[in-house]
Amino acid sequence: MSVERLRARIDRATARTAEAGLAGLLVTPGSDLAYLTGYDPLPLERMTLLVLVPGRDPVLLVPALERPAALVAPGAEALEVVGWAEGDDPYEAAAGRLPAGPLAISDQAWASHAIALQRAAQGAFTTIGAALPLLRAVKDEEELARLRAVGAAADAAFADILGLRFEGRRELDVAADLADALRSHGHQSVDFTIVGSGPNGASPHHDASERTIRTGDAVVLDFGGHMDGYCSDTSRTVVVGEPAEELRRVHGTVRRAQQAGVDAVLPGATCEQVDAAARAVIDEAGYGERFIHRTGHGIGLDVHEPPYIVAGNTTPLEVGMTFSVEPGIYLPERLGVRIEDIVAVTEAGAERFNDSPRDLVIVA
Ligand code: ZN
Ligand code: ZN
Ligand code: ZN
Repeated sequence: MSVERLRARIDRATARTAEAGLAGLLVTPGSDLAYLTGYDPLPLERMTLLVLVPGRDPVLLVPALERPAALVAPGAEALEVVGWAEGDDPYEAAAGRLPAGPLAISDQAWASHAIALQRAAQGAFTTIGAALPLLRAVKDEEELARLRAVGAAADAAFADILGLRFEGRRELDVAADLADALRSHGHQSVDFTIVGSGPNGASPHHDASERTIRTGDAVVLDFGGHMDGYCSDTSRTVVVGEPAEELRRVHGTVRRAQQAGVDAVLPGATCEQVDAAARAVIDEAGYGERFIHRTGHGIGLDVHEPPYIVAGNTTPLEVGMTFSVEPGIYLPERLGVRIEDIVAVTEAGAERFNDSPRDLVIVA
């Protein structure tokens, strides 16, 4: 990550801060800080804080012991890096740098820092997510390349899993296989491996349990992690042996809904239009009440980030935005089906970053 690119991001963030009527941004460790500076320290109780104020040079306040680490970050050259000494009050040190007026702080800031900074500041606080939701939403070519690569790695992991045995093994065992496959295809971290078999599939955020997978079960697999800073997140639903008629019908409906959502992706279309396109297919099939979540979420440095593909979000899609299209149908105590791909908005419509088979795959 070049310092020029990071400087351009900081300039854009500062310009948007002024446009939004804010006096400044307070950026704490997490994705916003990594995005703006290339510096990605562990979030800890000692305060690390980037202060961005329109018309002023950016300042990064760090614990003195972490100043050497901050100075070798890719964007350090673009920043004044100031260490605060052990025993000093970092919030007092920050107070002198904070402009009067409303401030936006990272959504991922620890409450301990946010509350102390709010006490030290004079203006009202909001979150960066609320004030500048699209700050990281439009990806540049390098980000798109990383998201494409991590998506392909997740697909390769899924392909590995299809050859393994499901019947007679626990969800936890399949989840462990999935995690191994993701790592073997280049993921540096595995963040979640949902394996929802039979009735467990009806809980969209079910993790993986001791339940033994049986013949006839639908199994929702939803998994992802990080590779080179960027996230994967994809879902497929497989069946152990021949599917029952109802599962075929539900799966076919979700598949058509997912395609309709992807087809609705165009520059200028709104987020809620993509949601509505997927939802209409499920409504028409009579399962509207069983599609109990939004159609998707943005993805990048975070697995869930703006823009959210949900009713009420009138944000127009822009070329370079990346998000999931993941409709599902959940029949309590029986089964669930979800199909999820990450897509990028291009001039011509959606580019999928996942391309695992979307047919109902039969596993052993
Ligand atoms: Zn989710
Ligand atoms: Zn997912
Ligand atoms: Zn997702």
